[in-house]
Amino acid sequence: MVRNVGVEQVKTALRAAGLPDNQTPLRFIVMALKLRDQVVLIDSGTGGHPIYGNGNGRLFESMAAAGLNPKAVKTILISHLHGDHIYGLMNNETNAQVFPDAEIVVPAAELKWWTRPGVDAIDLGPTRKGLAHRIQATLATWQNVRTFEGEPELLPGVRAVEAHGHSPGMVTHLVSSGGSQLLISADVVNLAPHIQTNPDWQLTIDQDPQMAVETRKKIFDRAVADKLAISGTHWLMPNVGRLAKDGNAYVFSAEPGA
Ligand SMILES: [Zn+2]
Repeated sequence: MVRNVGVEQVKTALRAAGLPDNQTPLRFIVMALKLRDQVVLIDSGTGGHPIYGNGNGRLFESMAAAGLNPKAVKTILISHLHGDHIYGLMNNETNAQVFPDAEIVVPAAELKWWTRPGVDAIDLGPTRKGLAHRIQATLATWQNVRTFEGEPELLPGVRAVEAHGHSPGMVTHLVSSGGSQLLISADVVNLAPHIQTNPDWQLTIDQDPQMAVETRKKIFDRAVADKLAISGTHWLMPNVGRLAKDGNAYVFSAEPGA
């Protein structure tokens, strides 16, 4: 997955993070916000699509365990249109909507990119095979999709923050409540926790790896400067905490309850 450093360097970093050096765990996490009378989801997970392996697609089970009613979901904020973030919105066989009564809020730049002429012909690796076609058959035509440009406030207390690179129009979501702020950073970094210490690593799964590196530094610098709590879709548990700067690198400290 790392394309600009050698495999031994990657293994060393994995061991230093207390992880096995012959494989990398990857979680698929959907965030839920309780906002007054409604539940807001940030992305929707894999929907159990087989390309993402066994054990995924348990959003409803997880919501039940957290005491959240799927029928209370009125808004779903989407960071970007990769399958592991949107397949939870649609039935694997029929594409039928899983949350037909929710408003789905999507970055306009993402929808535009994934529906542009010729996008089907671009090879973006095995996990994105057929993705553009599926977006065109679902989100591009659904009536309950709202698109936005730039970095507006999407809901009271939730602002989009642009983070292009991993995907052409990806955004992160900055949630404010009282005096505290949480940045839900989507796929700004996908190999947690070790890439925090190696922000210059370029990942093959980032569509524009160089832009992804620049975005990662910009977002992480802001998280450090503004003392934001931060998390990401694929971060390992415990997955909420704060970043500190260490030379050119970043160190993540989990702070459950931050
Ligand atoms: Zn992802």
